[in-house]
Amino acid sequence: MKITGIKSHVLSYELDEPLGYSQKYYTKRTAHIVEVTTDEGITGIGECFGPGGVALTNKTIVEKVIQPLIVGMDPRDREVIWNTIYNDIRDHGQKGMPMQALSGVDIALWDIAGKIAGLPLYKMVGGAFRDKIDVYGYGMMLQQVPDLEERFHNEAAQIKDMGFNAMKMKIGKGVKEDIRLVSAVRDAIGDDTGLMVDANHAYTAREAIPLGREFEKLGVDWFEEPVAPEDYQGYRDMCEALDLNIAGGEAEFTRWGFRDLIEKRCVDVLQPETCALGGISEYLKIRDMAHAHFIPVVNHVWGSAVCVAMNIHLLAAMPNLPGGAHPTEPMLEYDTTPNLFRENLLAESLGVLDQVKENGGWISLPKGPGLGIDLDWDFVDHYRVDA
Ligand code: CA
Repeated sequence: MKITGIKSHVLSYELDEPLGYSQKYYTKRTAHIVEVTTDEGITGIGECFGPGGVALTNKTIVEKVIQPLIVGMDPRDREVIWNTIYNDIRDHGQKGMPMQALSGVDIALWDIAGKIAGLPLYKMVGGAFRDKIDVYGYGMMLQQVPDLEERFHNEAAQIKDMGFNAMKMKIGKGVKEDIRLVSAVRDAIGDDTGLMVDANHAYTAREAIPLGREFEKLGVDWFEEPVAPEDYQGYRDMCEALDLNIAGGEAEFTRWGFRDLIEKRCVDVLQPETCALGGISEYLKIRDMAHAHFIPVVNHVWGSAVCVAMNIHLLAAMPNLPGGAHPTEPMLEYDTTPNLFRENLLAESLGVLDQVKENGGWISLPKGPGLGIDLDWDFVDHYRVDA
């Protein structure tokens, strides 16, 4: 079997209301889908992390840099292909966009492998340790409105009503404002619902440590990306200073980047983003390296239904971690803010929100081969911005 081509599909649409995190507000949704074709008619689907112009740049890397390197290779030779690509682009970027581009291609190769074997991805990576996955609801993105506290209060109550037993909110608006926002959300959901906060590296450790002490009083389960991803010492200081779990890793790449984060024990909860860090092949190495250091892994999930489906398989196949600091099963991160690329991209929806509501917070596993999904290609053509 041979790879015959790689195509990138960048999709976008305007949001009704801008949504934000501590670094910026955005007005568009983007999805970047990668399609690897073979001479035997089997096609693999993957996804690259990254919005807007980043997605369009990654498309160029996928099609102009990676494609010529691997056309003609056997798509089953995933490690050979990964190393061929990495060795070629290593001198031009060991983190960031080249790795995001490589990730989408590697994911598509795993989809092909599953389709050849007739097995779901979770079987291809070792089998399912669980047949249902708890889901936490992501919401409460920042908005430029005067009544944010009230909006967060109401949105948190809605997310709880949707059936989620845990949720995550954005922070990073300054210490005092963050305490007000987190208090408003805790007030809305009571003490028994899990609550995580995500600062998207808005702070220095000097600012974030006293803030973390306030979050401890508010029963926050983890403080995500408190400091810059390059600030390993800041992460380390936070873990030392606080009982609160420190989470991070979504802006780290490859086994070599994660090696430093893990060996320096910078986080209590590791959040690898498989659509960015180098794909499934690299994720498995990073997951096992984290577990070798007894650091729990809760995958970062931000993307379309392709990324969500892949992560359901990977979470199913995550071994339990005896002695882990985080006593819960791995959870699926699911963004509850409006996103057509989560709800409408597939011919048959994953139905995450319906399942969460029906089941009281969990979903079952996709059963089809590979990622177990088919794209709605009319939908893809409608939202495509790269043609
Ligand atoms: Ca995050």
